[in-house]
Amino acid sequence: MSPLVTQQLIDSTYIVAAVLFILALKWLSSPVSARRGVLAGEIAAALAVGATLCNPEVVQYKWIVIALIIGTGIGVPLGMVRMTAVPQRTALSHAFGALSAAMIGIAEYYVGVPHVTRFGMGEIGLEVIIGSLTFTGSLIAAGKLQEILPQRPITYKGQNIVSLSVLAAAILIAIALVVNPNNTYLFPIMVVVALVFGVLLVTPIGGADMPTVISLLNSYAGFSAALLGFVLNSKVLVVAGALDGSSGFILSVIMCKAMNRSFTNVMFGAFGQVQAAAAGAAEERTVRSASPEEAAAILAAASSVVVVPGYGMAVAQAQHKVRELFDVLTKKGVNVTFGIHPVAGRMPGHMNVLLAEADIPYDRLREMDDINSDLPQTDVALIIGANDVTNPAARTDQSSPIYGMPILDVDKARTVMVIKRSMSPGFAGIDNPLYYLDKTLMLFGDAKNFVGEIVRELTGGHH
Ligand code: NAP
Repeated sequence: MSPLVTQQLIDSTYIVAAVLFILALKWLSSPVSARRGVLAGEIAAALAVGATLCNPEVVQYKWIVIALIIGTGIGVPLGMVRMTAVPQRTALSHAFGALSAAMIGIAEYYVGVPHVTRFGMGEIGLEVIIGSLTFTGSLIAAGKLQEILPQRPITYKGQNIVSLSVLAAAILIAIALVVNPNNTYLFPIMVVVALVFGVLLVTPIGGADMPTVISLLNSYAGFSAALLGFVLNSKVLVVAGALDGSSGFILSVIMCKAMNRSFTNVMFGAFGQVQAAAAGAAEERTVRSASPEEAAAILAAASSVVVVPGYGMAVAQAQHKVRELFDVLTKKGVNVTFGIHPVAGRMPGHMNVLLAEADIPYDRLREMDDINSDLPQTDVALIIGANDVTNPAARTDQSSPIYGMPILDVDKARTVMVIKRSMSPGFAGIDNPLYYLDKTLMLFGDAKNFVGEIVRELTGGHH
C-alpha cells in the first residue's frame, strides 16, 4: 500500500473512532442504551489504538508489546474489582492516564530540546503540569477511598495559601521555560512542584467529597490528554481528551448541584470534619422497629410503594432480592416504583447500574424531582440501605452539614420503613431525624437477608 493510502486509511479510522466516542457518550446517558454506549466506546478505543499502531512512523514494536503486556497485567485485575470499589479503581485509572500523558510530555521535551519552540513549550508545560498533579492527586484520592489513607480532611492553618503558592510556583517555572525553553534545569523542578501540588490539592478534601474530586480529576486527565493531542498533532487524541475532560467536568457540576455544594466548597471546604462531633451530641431517642412479617403485611396492604435504594443495598448486593420483592408486590397489584437520588451510593449512576443488573424495568426508575411530587400520596416509602439522601435535616436544620442538599422527601409518605443494620450514620456521618418519626418503622438487618425474609413472608415460604 502506498504511504498516502495508508495515511488516508489511518485518518478515516480516526474519524470513525471520534464519531463513536461521541455516540458512546450520548448512549451512556440513558440506561436503555448504556450497554451500546460502552461497546461503542470500546470499539472506538480499539480502532484508535489499532490505527496508531499502523502508523508508518512506528519504528519498532518491541516496547509497545512490552507496554501492552504490562498494561494488560494491571488492567485485567482492575476490571474485576467489586462494584463498591469502582470509585477507587476509577481514581487509579485516572492516575495511570495522567501519568502517561505527563511522561509523554516529558519525553517530547527532552527529544525536542534544544529545538522546542516557545509555543510548543507552552503546550508541553501545561500538559505536564496538569498530568503530574492529576497523577498524585488521583493516587491520594484512591488511597482515601480504599482507606489506606485517613478519609478525614487533613488541614492546617494557611493551607490554601501554601497550596496555591505551590501551584503558582509551577506556573511561574513553566512561564520561565516558555521564555527560554533551553533552561533544561528548570524542567524537572516544574514536574516535581506539580507532583507536590497534586498531593496538597487532594489531602485536605474529605472522603465524602472524593467521588466529586475524582470526577474533576477525570476531567483534568482528559484535558491533559487533549493538550497532548496538540503536542503530538493527533486529532483523535484532541477529540477524545476534550470529550473526557468536558464530560468529567459536567459530571462534577451535576454532583455538586445534587449535594448543594459549590466547587470552591468541595475543593477548599474540608467537608467531613465537623460531623463526628455533631453525631456524638445526638441524644437518646426512641425508635420503633418491626419484623419481616409486619413489614410484609404493611407492604401487601399498600397500593403504592416507593423503594429508595442507597449505598447499603450495594454493600449487601441486595438488588436481586429487591427484584423478587418488586415481582411479588407487582403481582399482588401494588404499584412499585424506585426513587433514585443522583448521589445515592458511592458514584453517579450507582443505583441505576445495580437495578439494571437485576433487570428491574427502566420505566420503574424515577428521578428525585419527579418522585418527590408523588411521595405525599404514597402509602409506603421503603428505604433500603439509604441514609443521607433521605435525611430531612437537609431541608430543616440550618446547622446540618448537609443543609440545602436536595433529598428524597420520604418523610412525606404515609408510612416509612427503613432497612439498615443499626442506627449508625451514613457517609456524611450525621444522625437522621427520619428514624425517630412516629410513622417510621426501622427494619434492622442486612438488606439482602431482610428483603429475602419479606419476600418469603409474602410468598408463604415459597422463596
Ligand atoms: P449513606 O448515607 O452512606 O447510607 C448508607 C446506609 O446503608 C448506612 O447508614 C448503613 O447503615 C446502611 N448499610 C450499610 N451496609 C448495609 C447492609 N449490608 N444492609 C443494610 N444496610 C446497610 O448512603 P446513601 O443514602 O446512598 O447516600 C450516599 C452518600 O454518599 C451521600 O452522603 C452522598 O453525598 C455521598 N456521595 C455520593 C456520591 C455519588 O456519586 N453517589 C458522590 C459523592 C458523595 P447501617 O450501618 O446501620 O447498616
